[in-house]
Amino acid sequence: MATKALLITGAGRGIGAATARLAAAAGWRVAVNYVANSAAADAVVSEIVAAGGDAFAIQGDVGIERDVMSMFEAVDSRFGRLDGLVNNAGVVDRKARVDEISVKRLDRMMRVNVIGTMLCAREAVKRMSTRHGGEGGAIVNLSSIAATLGSPGEYVDYAASKAAIDTFTLGLAREVANEGIRVNAVRPGIIDTEIHASGGQPDRIAAMRGMVPMKREGTAGEVASAVLWLLSDASPYTTGALLNVSGGR
Ligand code: NAP
Repeated sequence: MATKALLITGAGRGIGAATARLAAAAGWRVAVNYVANSAAADAVVSEIVAAGGDAFAIQGDVGIERDVMSMFEAVDSRFGRLDGLVNNAGVVDRKARVDEISVKRLDRMMRVNVIGTMLCAREAVKRMSTRHGGEGGAIVNLSSIAATLGSPGEYVDYAASKAAIDTFTLGLAREVANEGIRVNAVRPGIIDTEIHASGGQPDRIAAMRGMVPMKREGTAGEVASAVLWLLSDASPYTTGALLNVSGGR
């Protein structure tokens, strides 16, 4: 059987990059999507190739339909198959109350986090579902523990976008359960990546780690190992699961 092929969105940095490295080490061929930082994505690809794996970088904004179509077409021509999708690309924004939120901010938050995930899932199902002649596969969506907390005073819009991912995961899991595709979500807690600085809070981890029952932040690798398990044949009867990777938070 040909080596399984995986597309990870937002895989140049953070949790996506850690997942790409771990997946390649587990034998997956990996398409490393990014939106702006080509150097970071190229570095992930070089690392995988140097270790004997197969990967390529592909630019594209998950919130733009034509970019998503091109990304999947690039995977089709490069790998000739698709067995897994990790919907990892996601954004936060500045700390704000709901009464301060602009429609521009909401458009970006929902477009990247929600519409991006749904567009990529649509293209993956078209390729993997036995209903469409595919061989099945697995989808893992990156939600957040914020979906269960609401993130008041910080970014309720982000938390709500991730709650949408939870419900989408449940619905899609049941829709394609009999078509060879498992769909699950991982809900990370406070993880050490650059996302906090991108939302204008570079010290967020130090400020919040005391609120985590384990009294520490998680690593991108700790989230990646949960994603890999859900992608793998080691979880054949798990679908529609929302797995907290949050140190007990
Ligand atoms: P990160 O370090 O900020 O990395 C985000 C990645 O997503 C980057 O590779 C970025 O590409 C890419 N990206 C952003 N917008 C994109 C778009 N429109 N199209 C395609 N790619 C895009 O983030 P992270 O902390 O690893 O987070 C990964 C996922 O986990 C997100 O969905 C996030 O909401 C979720 N999560 C994170 C935490 C946490 O504490 N870190 C907690 C809960 C949930 P460039 O490199 O090109 O900019």
